[in-house]
Amino acid sequence: SEMATMMDVPVTKIISACMSLGMMVTMNQRLDAETISIVADEFGYEVEFVTADLEESIDREVDAPEDLEPRAPIVTVMGHVDHGKTSLLDYIRKENVIAGESGGITQHIGAYGVKLEGGQKIAFLDTPGHEAFTAMRARGAQVTDLAIIVVAADDAIMPQTKEAISHAQAAGVPIIFAINKIDKPAANPEKIKEGLAQMNLLVEDWGGKIQSHDISAKTGDGVKELLEKVLLEAELLELHANPNRRANGTVVEAFLGKGRGYVSTVLVQNGTLRVGDYLLAGQHSGKVKAMQDERGNNVKEAGPSTPVSVLGLDGAPQAGDKFNVFEDEREAKTIATKRTQLQREQSVRTQRHITLDEIGRRIALGDFKELNIILKGDVDGSVEALTDSFQKLSTEEIQVNIIHKAVGPITESDVLLASASDAIIIGFNVRPMGNARQIADKEEIDIRTYSIIYDAINDVKDAMEGLLSPEM
Ligand code: GDP
Repeated sequence: SEMATMMDVPVTKIISACMSLGMMVTMNQRLDAETISIVADEFGYEVEFVTADLEESIDREVDAPEDLEPRAPIVTVMGHVDHGKTSLLDYIRKENVIAGESGGITQHIGAYGVKLEGGQKIAFLDTPGHEAFTAMRARGAQVTDLAIIVVAADDAIMPQTKEAISHAQAAGVPIIFAINKIDKPAANPEKIKEGLAQMNLLVEDWGGKIQSHDISAKTGDGVKELLEKVLLEAELLELHANPNRRANGTVVEAFLGKGRGYVSTVLVQNGTLRVGDYLLAGQHSGKVKAMQDERGNNVKEAGPSTPVSVLGLDGAPQAGDKFNVFEDEREAKTIATKRTQLQREQSVRTQRHITLDEIGRRIALGDFKELNIILKGDVDGSVEALTDSFQKLSTEEIQVNIIHKAVGPITESDVLLASASDAIIIGFNVRPMGNARQIADKEEIDIRTYSIIYDAINDVKDAMEGLLSPEM
């Protein structure tokens, strides 16, 4: 109905235009950008979307090489449940790996920084697990530089260990293994390394390039050396930032604090954030009234790779929202308000993920180079057989990547990974579990389930050849 008013045509005409596109709509329905363009075109109008302009005033200037300085690595800890992620983060937080700091970190702000004896710093994201990591990535935030994957030496490589590995690899984040619980009599670190080798992950002791260290998160044995390996690995990444610019970064968490207003923990990724800056974070804005570090100290500024909790935003942004600093308070507020409006109006998401049906069209457009697949099956044999067959479908134009494969039902975590990596999910004799289907519908992730191997291979092959008839 809004479109009808804007173009001054009867609303019934818009509805029938939509019907001719195969869409049954009501007058109150929201249309996606593509439909709006096509319908408007039929009535002789051209559509201009204003969303893009809105973000123009955000400082996206690329830094000159001479302005860059080394920055500390930002690390996420992942691994199977009960293998010791929280214990490791707690040990690092509490123990005196922090040179020249009396007392440990008392505040829980979602991220913390530590300083090693040599003066080097590391920032840790304090929400362990690959779900949090990938949820942020699905929102477009790539915060982590390195992943520590914890594996209990008295256990084995478990399903979530494999998931964590796939999630880190899909994000292109280097992995360091922490083989944990070596204080336990039943601990057998070699068995874990052997298991990793079987997955083609060769750690250094086994002649490979992947760093690993045996630790006990309980006694602290090996933790210092693990962190030194983190720094070594980080050096290879040549992490840099420009402290002398307006800050930007990512929101780690936010909540309404008792008597303090909204408290948001942000991780500065570039520039320096200062008290008094005008901040825009997701759909919220405000002047930074005060900042605190993880030790509860008030700080006046926070440079690259530093987490701080910020007071002064007019709401709680979401984890994974980007933040930027503005010269002008009004400008930050205007964008925040417009983003809120847009969010309210966009019941239909405009960002679409790849589907098998769409591959042919995207190939024709020439912008499709890689097909990412997450493969879940009922038994190892079928998963391996399908992996082989899918990989053989790769052509010069399109590379087929199996970014994660495992035995078991399709989980929420699979859907998140698909969303973050623009992948399709293929299930062989397995179905989506729990909320996975619902989230997939919301995120528009294509889940295909098969019970005949031949059908699965043929569908992917046909899709790549642009032959797949749309699924009804
Ligand atoms: P998470 O689920 O990966 O965060 O695992 P937790 O850190 O909660 O650890 C699970 C259990 O293993 C807890 O009871 C810990 O006390 C124990 N644990 C963790 N690390 C070690 C370790 O190095 N040695 C021993 N003996 N127990 C550990």
